[in-house]
Amino acid sequence: MSEVYVIGHKSPDTDSVCAAIAYANFKRLTGENAAAVAARAGEINPETEFVLKHFEVEPPKQLDNAAGRKLILVDHNEFGQMVDGADKADIIEVLDHHRIEFKLANPILFHTEPVGSTSTLIAEKYFEKGIKLDKKMAGILLAAILSDTVVFKSPTSTERDKKVAEKLAKMVGVDPLKFGVEVKKAKASLAGKSAKDIIFSDFKDYNFGGKRVGVGQVEIVDIEEARSRKKDILGEMERMVKQEGYDMIFMMLTDIIKEGTELLVVGDKEGTVTKKAFNAVLKDNSVYIEGMMSRKKQVIPPLEKTLG
Ligand code: MN
Ligand code: MN
Repeated sequence: MSEVYVIGHKSPDTDSVCAAIAYANFKRLTGENAAAVAARAGEINPETEFVLKHFEVEPPKQLDNAAGRKLILVDHNEFGQMVDGADKADIIEVLDHHRIEFKLANPILFHTEPVGSTSTLIAEKYFEKGIKLDKKMAGILLAAILSDTVVFKSPTSTERDKKVAEKLAKMVGVDPLKFGVEVKKAKASLAGKSAKDIIFSDFKDYNFGGKRVGVGQVEIVDIEEARSRKKDILGEMERMVKQEGYDMIFMMLTDIIKEGTELLVVGDKEGTVTKKAFNAVLKDNSVYIEGMMSRKKQVIPPLEKTLG
């Protein structure tokens, strides 16, 4: 029996990694797909590393090229975000919570819902089928929900996410709010990271009306530390526009305590796109936007509207 890889997006975040592990486990336990194996499309970030170590769960195996493989995609559905070789793979299912940018010649199971994390949908599947969640699975699903919803502060967070997280937290025996802060802090320091590491810790590619746009986000707890790295990060973004074929790059330095984002922009020469999309005026390629927390809800839709 050939393996079916359950895999999240490139630059994997905690939701992409934990959803892949828990959904592959669900597929095997229910017998829906005995060949399901969790995989990842890149390096594990420090937050995910903390979570997996905390619950003593092995990281999924890294898949560098998916050509010729069977795939179940979790936490994404855009081709630009898929593992390399996905265009030559056999995608048999999608489970996600993002905007839909997907096309395939043959019919498949495609499930998306506007909730705060893919892991919420997976936990609900376990509950519905009455499949027992052990502490490890409950723990990583909880951590992924807390991560994606920024401990319920993100505008993408819904009542369903909260309800599911509370149920999981009881199984694990932790206070979700306290544990959430612990999870988020694991990734929040920029010390010792190169500009490239910072940009690619959570970076996604989009196609807006034929333009190649990259949008990165890093969550921080110290805006001054982040601002001190601004020049360095902008330099790397400029290099990417010049050498890697991006039309524009947006980098969100999101302060999860203050609940706002220092937005760095390269490729928007007159600042007109930023002005139109966010009603914000760039100064030296950046602007602080109060209340901006979510790439998916507050950055992608206005960019798509402006550029698409
Ligand atoms: Mn994700
Ligand atoms: Mn997600």
